[in-house]
Parts: sequence; C-alpha cells; structure tokens
Amino acid sequence: VYRDPTVCDRCGAVYTNKTWRRGRTLSSEMLDRAAWATCPGCLQARSADEHYGRIVIRGSFVKENLRTIQQRIHNVARRAEFTQPQRKIVSEDWDGKTLEVLTTSQKLAHRIVHELKKLFRGKTHYAWSDSDNSLYATWERDLPKGLA
Ligand SMILES: [Zn+2]
Repeated sequence: VYRDPTVCDRCGAVYTNKTWRRGRTLSSEMLDRAAWATCPGCLQARSADEHYGRIVIRGSFVKENLRTIQQRIHNVARRAEFTQPQRKIVSEDWDGKTLEVLTTSQKLAHRIVHELKKLFRGKTHYAWSDSDNSLYATWERDLPKGLA
C-alpha cells in the first residue's frame, strides 16, 4: 500500500489515485510532502550502477560558500546512507561556477536540495529526464547585487 502521492525513487513515476504513472509533474510543494518508494516496475528491473539524481547547484552565493554547502550536502548524505546504504553520492564536480552532484537515489537528490533551500533559501527546480530516468534538481542562489 502506497501513500498518495508517492514518488518512485528510481524512475520518478508518481502514484496517485491508486495508479503509478510516468511523466506526471509535481510541484515543489507536492514533492516536499510526497512519500518515496520504489515502484513495482523498478523493483523488477534493478540495475545497480546507474545514477538517479542529478543536482546542479549554482549562483554567486555558491562560490562564496562552497565549503559550507558541501558540508551540508555530506551531512545529508551521511544521514541517508546510515538508514539506507544504497542511497549515496556517486560523484561531485565543481567547475568553478557550478557544483554538480550525482546520487544513486532521487529521494536523496531531493532531500539535499530541500535542505539547501531550508538553510540558505534560494530557488529550487525539479524536472525528470525521460532519457535516463533521473531526477534533475537545481538549486540556485545569487548574492544581492553589489556583493557578487
Ligand atoms: Zn520506478
């Protein structure tokens, strides 16, 4: 039995009105209160080494506070990994402007972005990619003009 709404941690399918369906879009608010589970389709077809969450973090605030932001990300990941060892960060890449984090779970990607927004405000955006079954989550925050 799934709660309504529930989001699949692997493919982003949404369960509502007793059916699972791909391609539904949820608002940030809905996503923040949705439950997470693995849908029946994904339970059947597991593959271990794909990534399911892609987080893009950007904005002038990020460059100034990179270390603090990374610490928060690691804290969230450590807590998630403690209860669910398969949920973790696969890679992290800072190119001087954008921090890209890949995770094994859509739920972890959402939790990280949600936590960043809670702590530092800023803007979040979520989208699902059909081509590789991943949740694409962005968080951005710029410094006020004149400080950047
Ligand atoms: Zn699924």
